[in-house]
Amino acid sequence: MENTLLTTHRELRPDLLLITFPSVNAFFVGHAGTDSEWVLVDTGPEDSSDCILECAGERFGCRNNPQAIILTHGHLDHIGSVMRLSEYWDVPVYAHDLEMPYITGQREYPMVESRSSQSSLPSRVDISFWVLPPPKDGRVPGLSGWKWIHTPGHTDGHISLFRQTDRTLLIGDALTLDEEYQTADWDALEGSIKLLRDLHPSLAVPSHGEPMGGAEFSHHLDRLIQNFDTVVNSDYAYLTSDIGQLGN
Ligand SMILES: [Zn+2]
Ligand SMILES: [Zn+2]
Repeated sequence: MENTLLTTHRELRPDLLLITFPSVNAFFVGHAGTDSEWVLVDTGPEDSSDCILECAGERFGCRNNPQAIILTHGHLDHIGSVMRLSEYWDVPVYAHDLEMPYITGQREYPMVESRSSQSSLPSRVDISFWVLPPPKDGRVPGLSGWKWIHTPGHTDGHISLFRQTDRTLLIGDALTLDEEYQTADWDALEGSIKLLRDLHPSLAVPSHGEPMGGAEFSHHLDRLIQNFDTVVNSDYAYLTSDIGQLGN
């Protein structure tokens, strides 16, 4: 199997592996080992399936398929390999109800609201054969101890994942704060940011950029909330540099 994408991976927790593609992150959640139960969170960009399969084989063994694939949302850089992997492993894919129209070929994501550009992510993807909504009570299939949290703003059905015991937070793109920032709903975004701040994570890991410690994360979010009107209305660049680590 030959990798065509340059990737790195590292453990953030004993059971949390960060896989970094050139522009986006994906995650294995589960302890290494051939008997381990594990889950893939997001599936990287297009053509990432060989990288993910190779990395999964090293960590869990080639015959140990994941319990599920969890999608934070349906943008193409997060679902690039979802069709191939869900088919290969024959596992369900979970995504929020509100994300369904965009990943089952019914709708395209709205135009990006950006100070710098107007663009949209093409999204004619149809994974309706595999995709299911996660349980309403917040449980994450295959991941005991984790909860999914609806964090709309970036997309309608965006979810983040949180583990209470060690306060680990996978943010997805719920916070994406630079000039390419994308939202069609600033009010929902503000609500999601407050929700994430109030979780007080000890480790917060975005889908673009580097993980942040809890204090740093809280500080950024407090400042962001204080300056939210500024972000929306005018002084965009200021907060861009301030929160640059969260990437896009
Ligand atoms: Zn996104
Ligand atoms: Zn993204």
